[in-house]
Amino acid sequence: MSGTYLGMPAFPTAAASSTQDGRLRANLRYATHTIRDKRAKAVAELDDWARLRAAGAAVKDRTLRHLDHYLEQLEEAVTAAGGQVHWAADAAEANAIVARLVRETGEREVVKVKSMATQETGLNRTLAEAGISAYETDLAELIVQLGDDLPSHILVPAIHRNRGEIRDIFREQMGRWGRAAPEGLSDAPGELAEAARLHLREKFLNAKVGISGANFMVAETGTLVVVESEGNGRMCLTLPETLISVVGIEKIVPTWQDLEIFLQLLPRSSTAERMNPYTSMWTGTTDGDGPRTFHLVLLDNGRTDTLADTVGRQALRCIRCSACLNVCPVYERAGGHAYGSAYPGPIGAILTPQLRGTASELDASLPYASSLCGACYEVCPVAIDIPEVLVHLRERVVQGGKVTRRGVKTVLKPAKGHAAERAAMRAAGFAFDHPGVLRAGQRLAGRTRRLHPRRLPGPGHAWSDTRDLPPVPAESFRDWWRRTRGEEQGK
Ligand code: SF4
Repeated sequence: MSGTYLGMPAFPTAAASSTQDGRLRANLRYATHTIRDKRAKAVAELDDWARLRAAGAAVKDRTLRHLDHYLEQLEEAVTAAGGQVHWAADAAEANAIVARLVRETGEREVVKVKSMATQETGLNRTLAEAGISAYETDLAELIVQLGDDLPSHILVPAIHRNRGEIRDIFREQMGRWGRAAPEGLSDAPGELAEAARLHLREKFLNAKVGISGANFMVAETGTLVVVESEGNGRMCLTLPETLISVVGIEKIVPTWQDLEIFLQLLPRSSTAERMNPYTSMWTGTTDGDGPRTFHLVLLDNGRTDTLADTVGRQALRCIRCSACLNVCPVYERAGGHAYGSAYPGPIGAILTPQLRGTASELDASLPYASSLCGACYEVCPVAIDIPEVLVHLRERVVQGGKVTRRGVKTVLKPAKGHAAERAAMRAAGFAFDHPGVLRAGQRLAGRTRRLHPRRLPGPGHAWSDTRDLPPVPAESFRDWWRRTRGEEQGK
């Protein structure tokens, strides 16, 4: 890994190599099965889970329907509380705003709380180009950063690494970034955690600027919320003089009371905890307590375009719990890097092609990175029907159609490489529209069934490489019906 998603190949190509990596698959299998089992137990403790889930989905949907109103309310509340709000239409604008804000402080180093939004925008690269060093302080993000790697899981970014690999990374790389790993560091979890603690403590105590995301933003009060397990977030949010938070516009909830739902749904779905060990909330700035300057960068980057799609917009309900990753058979085998974005797994397969569009080979391949088994929908705490959106996006890839890009309605051309699929669907559509043609085709297929190949020729061969073609019955259902129930009923 080179520390960037740029230029990554389409999902099948990336997955073809990652699925051959036995160590990666073993790491992923162990970690995802452990988390998913714990989650199931934590969720089973609540007898109103189904109602909580429905409430979470309803609050998110209502908020998204009135997103403009709530965002303006939030801006007003944050400003009134002493914060400054900046609007970023895309990743480049968000990164430029943050780089400028850091430069204005005169600092050249920042500490970061784990943040999906800044992974999405590639902020660290922009800061590095501006001569600013960004230090990740979440343990897993630190492992990823020291290893010049990329996150492969939403909650556990270094899930693809085992303890031995982490020890080697710490031994070899920590000294380049600050305090070196202790002599004779072993792969015992306690020793690894202590090495990270000592290394990070220096960063926290020297940092004048902190950068974070947020799990939620409360419109009525202008409050931001970060939930975490390690306490590094609390340090970054309270110690620096300047705090800059980059947050996707869909992270908003209308009222403080709405948090009650999500602060139950999120920890049980993500870390299988009844509540998060650290829940930090802040509203603007407070004299003598915490950062003296607070900037909120509100990130669009394809979200309003996604909102315009009546089927796909449900992806914006996501609270990034990662439960869908931990149950996905495709993620478990392919790993997170194959998805080529900050959002791996099932949520990445529906969110990335909406945020970035489906113009690139990689993005057009993502809606196919699923077996459509539906396990992701079952566990999603905000009831996102991921299979429904996957099928919707596959249709967009194959047939093109109307989409909104940067606020402008446009007609998308079909993606390359799906001509055979389109022709097959057209033929199927014609046959289903013409019962006589369908009947004749079924009879012909039944009579010639012994001659049918076991694998599809031409462009269909990849599909049948991993599947058995269903056998064609000697008699179609219609013919059977007619033979057993008589001609009249068989019409
Ligand atoms: S799609 Fe649902 S299950 Fe997946 S990360 Fe988002 S909220 Fe969690």
